[in-house]
Amino acid sequence: MGCIVIVGAGECGARAAFALREKGYDGKITLIGAEPHLPYERPPLSKDGLRDETPPKYVADAAKYMAARIDVLTDAPVKAIDRQAKHVVLVDGGNISYDRLLLATGARARTFPGLDDASPRIRTLRTHADAEAIRRDIQPGRRIAIIGGGFIGLELAASARHRGAEVVLIEGLPRVLSRGVPEEIAVVVTEKHRAEGVDIRCGAKIEKIDADDVGARVVLAGGDIVAADLVVIGIGAAPNTELAATSGLSVENGIAVDATLRTSDPDIYAAGDCCSFPLCHYDGRRVRLEAWRNAQDQGTLVAGNLLGAEEAISSVPWFWSDQYDLTLQIAGLADHAVATVRRDLGDSAFILFHLDETGRLLAASGIGPGNAVARDIRLAEMLIAAGRRPDPKALASPDMKLKALLAA
Ligand SMILES: Cc1cc2nc3c(=O)[nH]c(=O)nc-3n(C[C@H](O)[C@H](O)[C@H](O)COP(=O)(O)OP(=O)(O)OC[C@H]3O[C@@H](n4cnc5c(N)ncnc54)[C@H](O)[C@@H]3O)c2cc1C
Repeated sequence: MGCIVIVGAGECGARAAFALREKGYDGKITLIGAEPHLPYERPPLSKDGLRDETPPKYVADAAKYMAARIDVLTDAPVKAIDRQAKHVVLVDGGNISYDRLLLATGARARTFPGLDDASPRIRTLRTHADAEAIRRDIQPGRRIAIIGGGFIGLELAASARHRGAEVVLIEGLPRVLSRGVPEEIAVVVTEKHRAEGVDIRCGAKIEKIDADDVGARVVLAGGDIVAADLVVIGIGAAPNTELAATSGLSVENGIAVDATLRTSDPDIYAAGDCCSFPLCHYDGRRVRLEAWRNAQDQGTLVAGNLLGAEEAISSVPWFWSDQYDLTLQIAGLADHAVATVRRDLGDSAFILFHLDETGRLLAASGIGPGNAVARDIRLAEMLIAAGRRPDPKALASPDMKLKALLAA
């Protein structure tokens, strides 16, 4: 029996709560969230969920939590952890005791220091409330300036064009998607956005962003001014580590956990976007992922470990992004790769395989319409997990089935 408390009612916290029951745990489960909603999916917030007015896409409805005997507290931010007394303290003053605690506090959108983000004309996108507010401003005749050419900024640009707004996307680096995405794919994405009417400006240095009742302005070095009805800042996310840090847990670009997702306190675990962990397929280097499937995988795994399984995380990182009719998928981490092999799949879809100096497959990145790259990326993921060194000629040839390379 006992009681398990989960702080953070997002993708990972909800998955962990259900997985505890699936793994036979019969004690009390309390899932505590700061937002007013039951856990919901974030990926639609920048994609189809932004296009039309929709309620959040819930991970599960209230009846499912009730049936699984999961107590969900919404609108209930936790302000502290008392590790001696083994309870968490809510902002409203209440205490909730735990035998084991999971921190699944996710991440929040980064912004620029000192920026007046209280202005309704300057926003970030992380929550359903953010998406609702942004949707009201993306309409025909409105102009939106997006700061940051990462996934969220680009998906938002595609959704805004879909709703008929004018879009200027401002990126400080020489190209979009410079973090973890090969240039060949970034070129396809950039061309698509330009063809759809997005004004992409790379290498632009921002001097100032301000807003008043009439509109917002982004002042660029060199004097250009981008005037807009709304500025959305999409410059990445920062992990929510304050609870962990103030209670003395190790923090290292996220709440630091070992391969079983245990923090420096043996009764406290952390999982999802908020934690950094050693990644076994990449020599145990510490990473923090912001990816939907990672939140799910870690939620499931940590549930077993909260119950004593001591299983190490071993999934291959996987991420997708939808923009217009294109889907981009990435399995693995390419940053230590020294060679790239291209495989053309037809209908302008292609996959890039990234190999290290020994020929080991580290990552695969693909782009194409709809599901064109999904199957091969899934097989690449298996090759990466198996530590294979596939023949580059075979990888390049679409006639050579990846399944055969896996069986070899
Ligand atoms: C707009 C958007 C689009 C995305 N698109 C994709 C995509 O296409 N593909 C992909 O792989 N990933 C995507 N992601 C990333 C994916 O949604 C995240 O990786 C995933 O939501 C992480 O889940 P999590 O549970 O770890 O954190 P979160 O979803 O951030 O949930 C954490 C929850 O904890 C709560 N919390 C934090 N601190 C406290 C506290 N002190 N007390 C109580 N509650 C607290 C937060 O309010 C939040 O509700 C997207 C994310 C966003 C924002």
